[in-house]
Amino acid sequence: MTFVVGDNCIKCKFTDCVEVCPVDCFHEGPNFLVIDPDECIDCTLCEPECPAEAIFAEDDVPREQLEFIALNAQLAKEWPVITEMKDAPEDAEEWNGKKNKLEYLER
Ligand code: SF4
Ligand code: SF4
Repeated sequence: MTFVVGDNCIKCKFTDCVEVCPVDCFHEGPNFLVIDPDECIDCTLCEPECPAEAIFAEDDVPREQLEFIALNAQLAKEWPVITEMKDAPEDAEEWNGKKNKLEYLER
């Protein structure tokens, strides 16, 4: 299994999650983070760290966000690893909790 970053990370990107991952499996894009499913060891540490509640165990991904499983795997191959927390976008709180943000995903 793996853990998956879902819709609510888009445009929030608080990055709290990256500090706790023991195997550095988070990859960073312009306004979203993904988890590399080939590296994730299912340690569960990142899930409670996310202030946006955007991280799910693969089996618990909400039905309307199932496409994020493949999206994490694909973008993890394209984006660089991130291991240190950084400032969130200035308007992150404004976007936190908004639904269906996939159209705003920058690649
Ligand atoms: S803590 Fe949550 S919102 Fe922030 S980057 Fe990680 S997954 Fe995205
Ligand atoms: S479950 Fe563990 S290994 Fe997987 S992404 Fe989260 S912190 Fe990293």
